[in-house]
Amino acid sequence: MTAGHFRQYRKLLFDKRAELARTGAGKESSLRQEAVRHADFLDQSVHGIEESVQVRLRQTDHRLLKAIDAALYRVDRGTFGICGVCAEPIPAPRLNAVPWARLCRDCKELQDAGAPRPGSFPHDFPEWTG
Ligand SMILES: [Zn+2]
Repeated sequence: MTAGHFRQYRKLLFDKRAELARTGAGKESSLRQEAVRHADFLDQSVHGIEESVQVRLRQTDHRLLKAIDAALYRVDRGTFGICGVCAEPIPAPRLNAVPWARLCRDCKELQDAGAPRPGSFPHDFPEWTG
């Protein structure tokens, strides 16, 4: 990955971060306006559901923001685009689709499946000791 690539991904991440801040805030205020406008017609339970949806949206946005910040940090450190588990370069198509990805696709799938990481198998496992 060249300095040009780093600049390109930094811009992608900054743009996504700005977009998230914009739409995140917009979503929240329009929901709040809706709630205010319909307050007289909503019973308390509907109100509760709407609030929990809002909280969930905020949490998702927040997680994504943190992931983007972490990716920007890796750009500054020069470790951007390197898988956090196997230390192999993350393929460009994946980075273009998910610029804040921390793991390559294989490691991500292993992590999602809850599989143990390479090297964490017990050494006395028969098939490994022969
Ligand atoms: Zn990996």
